[in-house]
Amino acid sequence: MLSIDVYTCYAVAGAGSLVGLGLLAMVRTEQARVTYALGLFRWALLCLSVLLCVQLSPLSMRPEVLKGAIGFAGMGVALLAWAFRQLNGRRTYPVFGFLVVVLVGLALWGAAAFGSDQQYVQAIGVVFFLVSMGMALDQGLLLIQNSKFNGGDITLLLAACEFALNWVVLLYWAFTQPGPYPSHWLHMPDWLMPITGLSFALLPLAVSSVVFASVNERLMQQLRARSLSDDLTGALSRRGLRELGERMVALQAMQASVLAVLMIDIDFFKDVNDRHGHAMGDDVLRHVTNTVRDHLREDALLARYGGEEFSVLLPVRSRLEAQSIAERVREIVELSPFETKTGEIRVTVSIGIAFHREDTTLEDDLARADMCLYEAKHTGRNRVVTGD
Ligand code: GH3
Ligand code: MG
Ligand code: MG
Repeated sequence: MLSIDVYTCYAVAGAGSLVGLGLLAMVRTEQARVTYALGLFRWALLCLSVLLCVQLSPLSMRPEVLKGAIGFAGMGVALLAWAFRQLNGRRTYPVFGFLVVVLVGLALWGAAAFGSDQQYVQAIGVVFFLVSMGMALDQGLLLIQNSKFNGGDITLLLAACEFALNWVVLLYWAFTQPGPYPSHWLHMPDWLMPITGLSFALLPLAVSSVVFASVNERLMQQLRARSLSDDLTGALSRRGLRELGERMVALQAMQASVLAVLMIDIDFFKDVNDRHGHAMGDDVLRHVTNTVRDHLREDALLARYGGEEFSVLLPVRSRLEAQSIAERVREIVELSPFETKTGEIRVTVSIGIAFHREDTTLEDDLARADMCLYEAKHTGRNRVVTGD
């Protein structure tokens, strides 16, 4: 059996926290909520890393030094619990979080200064158990509420549960053995020592690697969402249309429904820019995008294909249905002027429609829809032209 003493446990916890601090230093985020949580995590790991300093210091055998460090470690675990609530978007009033952290420190240092040896050991057990149990419950509740079971959240739940369980065993000794206590204060049987050492090391390491992974994951999602959508209008970008469109084509093939591809171009848009300025032109673009989006079904994909040109992928039951939807979109844009302080700006759109066939690609469909759009432009604008 692996033999570890309590001092090694403390050192391992402190070292794990330092590694965690290093990991978190590499995390980049723009979200205020995550930045705030990261700040709390740093303070938590800093408090826990005091355990390593104690171990390395020549004063480590002095009880008051060790008791001081245990007080910091308690505050560190309370800060971890608070930081997790913050990261998971649960509201914690800063005053409340701060109070809990301070109370934990005061309870541990108070018991060290004024309690008997047994009372001090009991205080350690109770405080660490309550805080780690709170963390485990909070994490478990979050998993149940979100019913989104990812590896990181489960790892954390397990680490918190294991930590809490460890303190239950320690509490049993604290309440059944009146002493005398060993100088390291954590009275426990030999077999529990390596497990405690591991759990001490696992908690800060699990925490920092899960935070690292989860913040990076959010960043990736943000980047992906940005690359798939258009800044100005919020519609899909061309890349978004390609990626989501391919999926829609595959789905449509399975359902044997009709997939209509629309190309929509605003008529005489250059005039809008010339008359009202480019900035107002942008507002009109956004307005037209919203008007079109509001009159499409949820399952349609709307993308900004180019300057003032949009494409729509529309799953429909029949070609006739696609035509009537396109006609309605054309009409609604014509009837929804953009209101400005100096008056209304009215625009119309021309629309070309093509239908996806088994032997065509999405690019082909878009090109055919574009040809129909071209015809709509050349036969008077503010019209819908259907191909095939
Ligand atoms: P039509 O389509 O009816 O033939 O005439 P049009 O004047 O709309 O001609 P075209 O589609 O060729 O011109 C597109 C104009 O849209 C040119 C450009 O000034 C304007 N445009 C393109 N992208 C943007 C944009 O992001 N913001 C603004 N404000 N204008 C844009
Ligand atoms: Mg145009
Ligand atoms: Mg154009």
